[in-house]
Amino acid sequence: MLGSLQLLQPTNVAEASGALRDFGERGKLYAGGAELLLLMRHGLLQSEILVDVKKIERLHRIAWDDDALSVGACVTHHALETHLLVREHAPSFAYAESQVANVRVRNQGTLGGNLCFNDPHSDPGTVLLVHNAAVTLGSQRGERQIPLNDFFLDVYETVLEPDELLLDVEIPSLPSGMISAYLRLHRFQRPTLGVAAAVKMTDGIIAESRLAVGCVGPRAQRLAELETKINGNSISDAKRIFAEQKNYLRDMLQPVDDLLGSADYKLYMTGVLLGEALEQAARKDGVRK
Ligand SMILES: Cc1cc2nc3c(=O)[nH]c(=O)nc-3n(C[C@H](O)[C@H](O)[C@H](O)COP(=O)(O)OP(=O)(O)OC[C@H]3O[C@@H](n4cnc5c(N)ncnc54)[C@H](O)[C@@H]3O)c2cc1C
Repeated sequence: MLGSLQLLQPTNVAEASGALRDFGERGKLYAGGAELLLLMRHGLLQSEILVDVKKIERLHRIAWDDDALSVGACVTHHALETHLLVREHAPSFAYAESQVANVRVRNQGTLGGNLCFNDPHSDPGTVLLVHNAAVTLGSQRGERQIPLNDFFLDVYETVLEPDELLLDVEIPSLPSGMISAYLRLHRFQRPTLGVAAAVKMTDGIIAESRLAVGCVGPRAQRLAELETKINGNSISDAKRIFAEQKNYLRDMLQPVDDLLGSADYKLYMTGVLLGEALEQAARKDGVRK
């Protein structure tokens, strides 16, 4: 059961940030509430004041600006899965959004809430890494933009300051000719493993690639070194390289045993799914609309 709570509904970023600063530990930023209310109901988190940011107009924007999609933090998973601009410019991201949980969570949960909570068993962050996405953070002190790769720190940990809000996510389009695919493995609603691959092929050879893996360890990771290793190879050679790179993958991903699978199983399946995602993207059916 939840005790009595005060609800604040600021209409701009400075007001929201000021409330977070003034109330400190007593106040919590609240978007869809899919995670926050669950934690409070189970007594894992206490709060007296909820700072509901959904009245801030900017946080609901989806737009195509100068070769990049801009998505406000309060846009829901369901809106992202169905929005025409997202399906056109970042189809694998739209597909990943369609795989989140169930329709109830997709209608309630927001992209910002998902990224800021940074539960390792999440879908959107992994595919956003192959887009070289960046996040804009804002507070009373101003705004700063940082690559998503630098935003995630560790399990449930990001670079957000206590009075800072995630405002929007910039998602550049992939380079011309590059196609992406997202694959996930799950036993329950949350993914055990999520893999994003993007590839540009020239005469059957990988000219350029991007790879990211999520859910295996503390945070979603881009695998830049592995990208360099597979460039210049065929898809079947790349699959062989993935199978040989167990030690690199273990070091990069730091797999953990948990209720969703053993570390060894996740590591083995990472190699398999990377190969499948790459092949799907190379066949040009990776783009799912
Ligand atoms: C049953 C269940 C199944 C799920 N399955 C999946 C799944 O398969 N894949 C997946 O990816 N996710 C899954 N999720 C996670 C889900 O996507 C997130 O719960 C949701 O996106 C959180 O968004 P929210 O708006 O509800 O966040 P909230 O619960 O409102 O907030 C979560 C946290 O983020 C902070 N926060 C929220 N917005 C901002 C912001 N703009 N700036 C700064 N801080 C902010 C809050 O203060 C809080 O600490 C699942 C969740 C549940 C409950």
